[in-house]
Amino acid sequence: MKRNKVIAGNWKLHKSNTEAQQLANQIKIRSTDIKNTDIILCPPFTALTVIYDVVKDSAIGLGAQNMYWEKSGAFTGEINAEMIKSTGAGYVIIGHSERRQYFAETDETVNKKIKAALDEGLKPIVCVGESLDQRETGITAQIIETQVTGALAGLNEQQMAEIIIAYEPVWAIGTGKTASPEQAQEVHAQIRSLVNKQFGDAVSENIRIQYGGSVKAENAEILLSQPDIDGALVGGACLKAETFLPIIQAAEKL
Ligand code: PEP
Repeated sequence: MKRNKVIAGNWKLHKSNTEAQQLANQIKIRSTDIKNTDIILCPPFTALTVIYDVVKDSAIGLGAQNMYWEKSGAFTGEINAEMIKSTGAGYVIIGHSERRQYFAETDETVNKKIKAALDEGLKPIVCVGESLDQRETGITAQIIETQVTGALAGLNEQQMAEIIIAYEPVWAIGTGKTASPEQAQEVHAQIRSLVNKQFGDAVSENIRIQYGGSVKAENAEILLSQPDIDGALVGGACLKAETFLPIIQAAEKL
């Protein structure tokens, strides 16, 4: 089954609007030869409209890094799916481990956010992954199962067609440590089989599962050539065109 690769850049808490515009411009200009790989930029909320203006006439997608599930109300500082959609963005990262760790997100809130995003026509990039402690105690598979089934609870096959899953072992995010291709492939295959159990063959064969955790030019090709790895969610290396583009090019070659 050939699935187009999808490379997303999670800019986290980086880039003023001027810097964001420059980076998006460089990526756009230097990726015009990319035809089979989807590129998604996920800047801070404040840069979404600025970047939309840069990418709107290209194939580059735009995503937010988080959202709240309520549609409106007294929730100071929160942003809803409709607001994100109104910037021109089509995607939203949900349940990143930094949100789970620092902002108390749970499988239940992740599930609510996914449903609210889908209701508004946004495509969720749903993050799952075990901590170092969980890997070392041998409970990775159990944690992944809980997170995946919790995140996807109550969704239907049609909604699943809009979802990307990102497997991001917490111990590999921003640490320079990457899961080996075998370690990553094992979890990706498990995620695909969990999706298969819940939603059947068509959904599990089509769903794209990204790997995230210190992906860079040097390890992109070997990771992306694993059978169940359909792309990358990139943190550190997406902040410069020189380090992000080689990852996109590695995906395009496969
Ligand atoms: C991320 O934040 O999703 C991520 C994978 O970061 P990094 O590439 O820096 O490990």
